[in-house]
Amino acid sequence: MKELENIDITDSPEELICYSYDSSYVKETKPALVAWPKNAEEVSRLVKFAFTRDLSIVPRGAGTAMTGSSVPIDDKTLVISLEKMKKLLDINTKNMTALVEPGILNGTLQRELYCLGFFYPPDPSSLNFCTIGGNVATNAGGPRAIKYGVTRDYIMELECVLPDGTIINCGGRTHKRVVGYDLKNLLIGSEGTLAIVTKIRLRMLPLPEDVATLLVSFTDIQKSAEAIDKIIASKIIPRTLEFMDRNSIMAVEQYKPHGLPMDAEALLIIEIDGYADLIKKEAEKIAHICNSLGGNVVLAADAFSREQIWSARRAISPALYHMKPYKINEDIVIPRDKIPQMISIINRISVEKSIQIICFGHAGDGNIHVNIMTDDKEGQRDKINEVIRVIFENAVKLGGSISGEHGIGITKAPYLDMELSKRQIYIMKQIKQIFDPQNRLNPSKIFA
Ligand SMILES: Cc1cc2nc3c(=O)[nH]c(=O)nc-3n(C[C@H](O)[C@H](O)[C@H](O)COP(=O)(O)OP(=O)(O)OC[C@H]3O[C@@H](n4cnc5c(N)ncnc54)[C@H](O)[C@@H]3O)c2cc1C
Repeated sequence: MKELENIDITDSPEELICYSYDSSYVKETKPALVAWPKNAEEVSRLVKFAFTRDLSIVPRGAGTAMTGSSVPIDDKTLVISLEKMKKLLDINTKNMTALVEPGILNGTLQRELYCLGFFYPPDPSSLNFCTIGGNVATNAGGPRAIKYGVTRDYIMELECVLPDGTIINCGGRTHKRVVGYDLKNLLIGSEGTLAIVTKIRLRMLPLPEDVATLLVSFTDIQKSAEAIDKIIASKIIPRTLEFMDRNSIMAVEQYKPHGLPMDAEALLIIEIDGYADLIKKEAEKIAHICNSLGGNVVLAADAFSREQIWSARRAISPALYHMKPYKINEDIVIPRDKIPQMISIINRISVEKSIQIICFGHAGDGNIHVNIMTDDKEGQRDKINEVIRVIFENAVKLGGSISGEHGIGITKAPYLDMELSKRQIYIMKQIKQIFDPQNRLNPSKIFA
């Protein structure tokens, strides 16, 4: 095909199958073609080719999305994989910015910046295997969001290819910019439904002088929530404030023992950063607050012990897969002070519906990962859907949201109207129509 000259593209079934799923349980559908462009111009040519062949397009990073957002919906689909566009193009230490291609892994970028004394704050737990392009498309967040915010807070400029093949730049090199509607921020979190991101200029920060990590166990979950409130009320903003419930502690210890306390009902991982003398004071203050509420505090003595704590946290997801063959991971977010109420609602639902539910997540920003565990996802499909609906209803009722970081994709599309009004959904659909009148780019995502 002349129009695709020099573009790496395949229709070989064994390769197509690798692009037929993501980290969710959405049904696998093989695309017609997968292409690995090298630059925006090749992406543009691919988009125009899809138009002439009446193919839908699914942009894809590493396929770690939890909502089916990078899964083709039928075999008339061209997957444009950005994974080979993975260069770190420029680092400007004076302006504290970096210019990257979308396929670079978040973890690779972090390591490069670390060597120069900088860091990029958004740190999804999947950082070692997800791409910055995917992070932009899902507005990914991570444990550090409580102090540093999420992807949107660090993106300055995007180069993207529109569904008609036009290449545009949104945003720019300056921190401030107020010129017309903010298209850059509209594209962030749009899950590949409006444009394909081909270059990203992002903000980085200098590494803090020091970091301290505390592991605190509680035998009373309510007390762990009180500790969170008191820490924040004492005007300390930790850079992470992670929560694990009893079931996730047990799951990790059974999977890969890390020495977590087996008698704990809740664990908090609290990390603070800044100047060394300030950190020391803050760590003492946090330990005092937690002790006064019956918490048992362990301060990581060195980088190795810190890594052990984080390794336990990162082991939750794989550990859960060892408990049951299927876990449905929903990432609700609620106002921080409503966490204990939400956890007790979830525990009640778990008992009423006789289904195991395991919670962990980013307590600092109210983002709880609710994992519904099952041996038989098809046989229990109706029950699982009902459980998800009731959990979402309660999250929204408590002033929260049905997604804190994973987005909507396919799996949450049926629940969109629980949170957004008809008018809001109408406006969003009109925006999609303006960008993509033929509904070619990632169709059936976000809107059911
Ligand atoms: C174990 C595990 C832990 C996780 N932890 C977190 C977490 O802490 N925080 C969090 O936010 N998420 C987390 N996730 C979810 C996932 O890693 C993120 O959503 C991530 O941002 C997806 O990146 P990706 O490269 O895999 O994108 P993909 O899964 O390939 O794509 C995701 C979406 O982005 C679109 N897309 C991808 N690249 C582009 C591009 N260049 N231009 C336009 N659209 C594009 C796709 O079409 C799709 O809609 C986790 C996932 C796993 C499996």
